[in-house]
Amino acid sequence: MNKTGIIFFPAFDWSLGEFHPEREERLLYTQEQIFEEGIMDLPQVRQYSPGVADLFDVLRTQAIFPDLQQHNLDAHLIAVGSSLVLGNALMKKEITNGFALVRPPGHHSGATVWGNRGFCTLNNEAILINVLRAKYGIKKIAVIDTDVHHGDGTQDIFYHDPNVLYISIHQDGRTIFPGTGFTEEKGGPNAWGSVLNIPLLPGVGDEGFLYALENWIMPAVEAFKPDLIINSAGQDNHFTDPLASMNVTARGYGKITEMIKPDLAVLEGGYAIEGALPYINMAIFLALAGEDYSGVVESQKPQNTEIGGDTIRSFLTDLKRTNKAVRPSWVFRKEQFLPAGDWVYSEKSIYYDTDGFKENRKEYIRKCSHCGGTVLMISQKTSAFQKAVLARIPFEACPDCEQAGYDLAETFKKLEKTVLLQNQLRDQVHLWRDGREVNPFGG
Ligand SMILES: [Zn+2]
Ligand SMILES: [Zn+2]
Repeated sequence: MNKTGIIFFPAFDWSLGEFHPEREERLLYTQEQIFEEGIMDLPQVRQYSPGVADLFDVLRTQAIFPDLQQHNLDAHLIAVGSSLVLGNALMKKEITNGFALVRPPGHHSGATVWGNRGFCTLNNEAILINVLRAKYGIKKIAVIDTDVHHGDGTQDIFYHDPNVLYISIHQDGRTIFPGTGFTEEKGGPNAWGSVLNIPLLPGVGDEGFLYALENWIMPAVEAFKPDLIINSAGQDNHFTDPLASMNVTARGYGKITEMIKPDLAVLEGGYAIEGALPYINMAIFLALAGEDYSGVVESQKPQNTEIGGDTIRSFLTDLKRTNKAVRPSWVFRKEQFLPAGDWVYSEKSIYYDTDGFKENRKEYIRKCSHCGGTVLMISQKTSAFQKAVLARIPFEACPDCEQAGYDLAETFKKLEKTVLLQNQLRDQVHLWRDGREVNPFGG
């Protein structure tokens, strides 16, 4: 029998407005339903109390610019902390799997953070993953993101990390926020193939999702041989969701969960708060607990025609062929500030829709056949002309990449106002302001 952990954190005092879909009722209806149905009385269920994440755990994974003190992270730290409570329970073998029903969500929050985007400021799953690696020595983790939106933040954080497989199945970015998640995004020069994006036509339902899982996603996960599987459990693929156009049912979510068999599921989006979320969450939870979820049926019936049958099968077969044919093309750059080695250059522009500004970022990755490679990100919040630098020495860095990280910090602390060094290898973070090392946690 599965021992399934559950945690609720509805974040009463965090919302983007009384009528905004991202508000505490998202979880209150679910909580009510789960209690009413007597699911908490199942012998295998264990409920945990929310926890608060340590700021160090945040900075190990995400660079918060210009510094931690300028963001209100209270609710976000509890959403992350609650995910960590279940992660710790899993590592201590108190549970066989778990579901963190927390908000705010996190998967749009990336490697550098200047504010909130897509309702996300901190990335719950990414911070959790790096805690499990740093604290428990877990090597390989697969993330399967079933939210209707592409988890661009999670992809961004692990894009150069060969030991995290990020798979996202979502509504095509040409038709929905955040406009990314295409098949050619497959990972950086030292991690090619560690990202898999499956953008779907609007209208796909249970059949298409299960077909993609069976024929593409799960075989890719099995080939990767992860030590753990995390599900970014977004529920906005439901046919009633007001922010998206897919046709998945609550029972469909139950089947998806049964197929993925995640060690941990962390709630992401889902905005049909009364008519869908309680049912989906219950189906997911019952599937995790190894119980029958076939009786979980939402009161509303699907109105739109599902894109299924041959249409979705041939669509996915074509997409898989396209994905396989994509070849990497790296742009190498030499710059005075770069330490020895070959550095791959790219740039991106990230729009913070919640806060209404843009970040421009230049990225340099040290190409390395021994490790994930040191990463340099020169980031600018365009509206404020503020610039900040992140240098990251990856987990299991080779000696040359480790040294490259120190050299970058040394160079940039003289050049830029804010420099953060994430030393994942030694499990340390360092922050420099105007050339002087300061305590990144304030005080
Ligand atoms: Zn979403
Ligand atoms: Zn290396």
